[in-house]
Amino acid sequence: MAEVDAWIGLGSNLDDPVSQLQRAFGELDSLEHCCLQASSSLYASPPMGPADQPDYVNAVARLKTSLPATDLLDALQGIEQRHARRRSRHWGPRTLDLDLLLYAQAVIDTPRLRVPHPGIATRNFVLYPLAEVDRTLGIPGLGVVAQLLEHCPATGLKKLEG
Ligand code: AMP
Repeated sequence: MAEVDAWIGLGSNLDDPVSQLQRAFGELDSLEHCCLQASSSLYASPPMGPADQPDYVNAVARLKTSLPATDLLDALQGIEQRHARRRSRHWGPRTLDLDLLLYAQAVIDTPRLRVPHPGIATRNFVLYPLAEVDRTLGIPGLGVVAQLLEHCPATGLKKLEG
């Protein structure tokens, strides 16, 4: 299969989130048929949903991959499990969350996989890291990242140094 660009959203708010994300970048690069091509800075953001949980650390990564989208989702879920992911409730705290944000310019809408990821245009902790890596990136059906940013305030988002 031909290689495509896939964009992954990373998030963590438990068990040293910065280390969780740093480890996850390495694990993405080590996946079979995948190569990590770019990663954003890490960003801190307040939790979505229940507020009685720690802030999140988020980032995005761009992979070159020859895996079909569902196989890539399997691989991402394997990494989540290796991070001893704990989830007590919907939108509750988690050790590592990996979302398939974009898979080439594909539009996928199945019970298991929706691409572009439904939150992509409205979540500042996704859009700002995406823009840091590629402001010209087009999101099928939604527009170009730089334009979407104009409607997405950076409220609460903090780029982490280093
Ligand atoms: P969450 O961990 O809350 O992000 O949700 C995980 C669930 O969302 C899994 O059951 C996936 O099958 C489903 N899902 C649907 N679309 C996506 C996507 N683009 N990336 C990751 N998970 C997805």
